[in-house]
Amino acid sequence: MSGVEVLVRQQDNEKVLLVYRLDGRAPTAQQCEDVGEDHGFYEPHAEAAHSFGAYAKAQLVREGFQGGLCDHAWKSWGHYGRNPFGQFSACSKCGVSAMTVHRKRSPQVSYLYDKWELREHVWRLWLQRGPVLGSLVELPHHQKGGAQ
Ligand SMILES: [Zn+2]
Repeated sequence: MSGVEVLVRQQDNEKVLLVYRLDGRAPTAQQCEDVGEDHGFYEPHAEAAHSFGAYAKAQLVREGFQGGLCDHAWKSWGHYGRNPFGQFSACSKCGVSAMTVHRKRSPQVSYLYDKWELREHVWRLWLQRGPVLGSLVELPHHQKGGAQ
């Protein structure tokens, strides 16, 4: 991701990320979430990092996930549709669903986990071990047209 710098720290046995931008602007909520997910967080929580004066507008990102995790056991994957088309499955343990969405004449593929759209590498990670069905909380910037 261009323009976002990350410092990884351990704080009371917890991994915290200091996220800032070289242009001095505050990282967006979406950038903080992406960086957090890249570092293995399921529900990255960002707040202003007041104690880092050198990095004005830096954000402190830590794991905020409170729900349960499942080592998923996927039922056999099914195929659906023509346009869009893709694959879908559900976990036989926790019931969460996963799906790919391809659109004809578009190189872009959507990766859905429950009702959430993830980037592919995060999706693949969460397919191994991820939040149980219904355990993720909606954040303001998830809304279409919400604050970025
Ligand atoms: Zn599961």
